[in-house]
Amino acid sequence: MAGQSKGYCKYCGNEYIWGGIRRHLHACKERKAVLASTTGKRSCGYFEMLLYGKYDHTYWLIIEMPDTRTLQDLDQFIRNIWMECCGHLSSFRIYGESYDAYPDTEGFWGEPAKSMNYRLKDILSEGLVMDYEYDFGSTTELEIKVLHYRQGVWKRDPVTILSRNNPPELLCSHCKKNHAQWIDPTRLFEEEAFWCESCRQAHIQAKASQTAKTDGTCDDSYEDFDEEYFLPVCNSPRMGVCAYEGSELYPDTFEPDKRPVG
Ligand SMILES: [Zn+2]
Ligand SMILES: [Zn+2]
Ligand SMILES: [Zn+2]
Repeated sequence: MAGQSKGYCKYCGNEYIWGGIRRHLHACKERKAVLASTTGKRSCGYFEMLLYGKYDHTYWLIIEMPDTRTLQDLDQFIRNIWMECCGHLSSFRIYGESYDAYPDTEGFWGEPAKSMNYRLKDILSEGLVMDYEYDFGSTTELEIKVLHYRQGVWKRDPVTILSRNNPPELLCSHCKKNHAQWIDPTRLFEEEAFWCESCRQAHIQAKASQTAKTDGTCDDSYEDFDEEYFLPVCNSPRMGVCAYEGSELYPDTFEPDKRPVG
């Protein structure tokens, strides 16, 4: 379901799907009050952006960044919240040009890429849609849409999250009762992919006793191998890919600053 997952508005805590929150953010009374009461001498421009999984719109984020920040800052944030497993390469594609985390300046593999050391104000504009890729092997692809540009009081934070999809409620494919905690990366796109902890334990024990019966010894390596094959369920378009175990810096659920009253 394209973009139908819901998320909270940072400022008032009301829940919307992404289309709704985009409109809401410009009408939210709480946000207006916060912005009006923020004071400071320096002003700066802010880009509001929608980030989403290119092929799975369940996962989305609406963020705001000062226009003096760089593509590198945006890349770092995306890695921190959604991607980082083992320091793979990443790249933005904007108007047909590549901006790489580790640019191949020699151009050995074709057109030389640019670095990510560009300020957002020199690259982005309202309405722009750019592509982002993390890991050129088991690639996770995003689209990033620049929704809006505004002037405001300068903030130190490189990124402010305005809203994020709530974690999807995934059920264990085996008991079909408990919440899924694990995903089998070899079955990512199959129905059997999700496991709860008790089904996983039962599965491991069944495998172990099977192995013990057939050759009379308990093969530890087999058991370890089997356990390694499960990755934790997490709120990211990279769930179940490579060795991705979720974010170390951001909890799966985005907590708004306020909850709606009444
Ligand atoms: Zn709001
Ligand atoms: Zn990896
Ligand atoms: Zn289960």
